[in-house]
Amino acid sequence: PPIIEVRNLNVWYDTTHALTDVSFDLYPGEVLAFIGPSGCGKSTALRSLNRMLDDIREIRIEGSIRMGGRDIYAPDIDPPVHRQRFGWVAQSPNPFPSSIYENVAYGARIHGLASRPGEMDSLVESCLRRADLWDEVKDILHAEAGGHLSVGQQQRLVIARALGFDPEVLLMDEPTGSIDPIATRRVEQLILDLRGTHAIIVVTHSMMEARRIADRVAMFYLGRLVEIGPVAQMFDHP
Ligand code: ADP
Ligand code: ADP
Repeated sequence: PPIIEVRNLNVWYDTTHALTDVSFDLYPGEVLAFIGPSGCGKSTALRSLNRMLDDIREIRIEGSIRMGGRDIYAPDIDPPVHRQRFGWVAQSPNPFPSSIYENVAYGARIHGLASRPGEMDSLVESCLRRADLWDEVKDILHAEAGGHLSVGQQQRLVIARALGFDPEVLLMDEPTGSIDPIATRRVEQLILDLRGTHAIIVVTHSMMEARRIADRVAMFYLGRLVEIGPVAQMFDHP
């Protein structure tokens, strides 16, 4: 069954109707790419899933989003707790102003994971390895993250930090939008490596990127999800 089911989602920012009747499913282990021009609602659709829109004034959200069969906008859901079920990767790498180690350990501490001695060290190592960053940082784990890493490395650190939450779903809002082509390929490869063990939604401007990394593509236009399907079907039909 799908891990997330979105039905007839409508979002307004005050009078701006940002999403109109958006419906889609997200399946375990798949990479779903959101593509479409700037301002068409991709980021809004992404942020509705982890309740990042809640803090915006004048926001109105209608429709239904179910995760594991439960309505995520039900009154008994606490938005900050709900948000911690997701890994979040933004366009600009934004490591916390703390050490590389503490960036990755943060999510595990919140969830009470790795409480026995030594467990946190191996969890941090495992997340950094899965983010393809371990070899570059293993000797500077306690250095300040921002000052010691390139922009591309910082983006991989943010992915390692997201994995520290042991998330069910990874949400990535143009994760390659502000890094160079070499760093982009490494992040794309990471997404391919994580596929299968994590459900991932990636927002991208690039059809080529969607084609390289996604199982399915959802195409947005003027606030509507106009087409969704397997990558091959979206790009290779006549
Ligand atoms: P995309 O991610 O495809 O660029 P967005 O979801 O960011 O699109 O934006 C969809 C529409 O909602 C746009 O018209 C945008 O200007 C508007 N919008 C997005 N965020 C806000 C906000 N915080 N307040 C008001 N309008 C917003
Ligand atoms: P990004 O690609 O990082 O979302 P944007 O420039 O689209 O960059 O948006 C930056 C922030 O401003 C986002 O949090 C978005 O929700 C908000 N935003 C986007 N459009 C508007 C708008 N028309 N009015 C107010 N806030 C907006």
